Amino acid sequence: MEDVRNVIIIGSGPAGYTAALYTARASLHPLVIEGFNWGGQLMITSDVENYPGYPDGVLGPAMMQDFRRQAERFGAEFLTDDVTRVDFSEQPYRVYVGDDEYRTNAVIVATGASARQLGLDSEARLQGRGVSYCATCDASFFRDKDVVVVGGGDSAMEEATFIARFASKVYLVHRREEFRASQIMVDRARASDRIEFVLNKVVTEVLGEDKVTGVRLRDTVTGEESELETDGFFVAIGHDPNTSLFLDWLDHEPDSVYLITRPHSTETNLPGVFAAGDVQDHVYRQAVTAAGSGCMAALDAERYLASHRDRERVAAAASRA
Ligand code: NAP
Repeated sequence: MEDVRNVIIIGSGPAGYTAALYTARASLHPLVIEGFNWGGQLMITSDVENYPGYPDGVLGPAMMQDFRRQAERFGAEFLTDDVTRVDFSEQPYRVYVGDDEYRTNAVIVATGASARQLGLDSEARLQGRGVSYCATCDASFFRDKDVVVVGGGDSAMEEATFIARFASKVYLVHRREEFRASQIMVDRARASDRIEFVLNKVVTEVLGEDKVTGVRLRDTVTGEESELETDGFFVAIGHDPNTSLFLDWLDHEPDSVYLITRPHSTETNLPGVFAAGDVQDHVYRQAVTAAGSGCMAALDAERYLASHRDRERVAAAASRA
């Protein structure tokens, strides 16, 4: 069938674009349905200093432009729109963008994850200007500065502890007195003389015009309002994988909606459907690990399509005989 694609990549970001590069170089003519807001989480990141190959650092959006151009150079085709539905009930699989239907023998799911946001206007306005969702990426920009971290889970403890290696002061703001984090992570944070716990407080506004200068807090017990000066504001209240389109078809972890892939592979429970990057990884979540995982998915898809073609040839020969 001529209108059946070899491979459709759903989502962009390091995983999707790397899968596009590898499948394009393998002459599979991938279609990347990259999302209306293409590029993923790096589009809301400023300087990236931990991606190998950029010794002087690079802006997140510029890096995603580079990734995209490199895949395009080898013939990847892009559709800058959102997938609205998939139907994996039979092969070829069907992927929909509104009323438009695309059929394909293989799918690489690379829709990533989104850091949970507090949902404040001021938080959105100051993203990349002191508001960050990634301590690994941005902590070193706050050397000898004051930083606020919001959250009470393992991520918040881990991020506060990591940031305290750079910052002079880290205020860990949490809305309760009890923590969701494991005791060992809480103890580790408490052991740092640079980390101060600010409990029973929610952030109601991030202050600053062009960059973060402070936060406004409300006490969850007394309702009292206060302000705290800070240079950086890290939101560490968890991530959500962007998997809602796939949950009817693909297995996910029992206590979350991260997709399950087979160990040392990007294979999902369906033949010819692969998952790469943060959509199946809540542990590492780095651009470089997502890119590596996109490469794995492309190689897995390539091998799958080769064996798929062999099976079709055998079936055609058998029906002729
Ligand atoms: P999490 O366990 O869901 O914790 C989220 C925290 O953010 C909670 O304390 C929650 O407060 C708070 N929160 C959520 N929405 C908020 C809001 N709108 N305003 C203020 N606070 C808000 O998420 P996580 O910390 O990212 O951890 C996710 C999973 O990864 C966990 O299973 C964790 O163990 C694992 N993890 C492990 C490690 C490690 O072992 N090294 C590191 C990171 C993550 P409440 O408690 O009041 O709901």
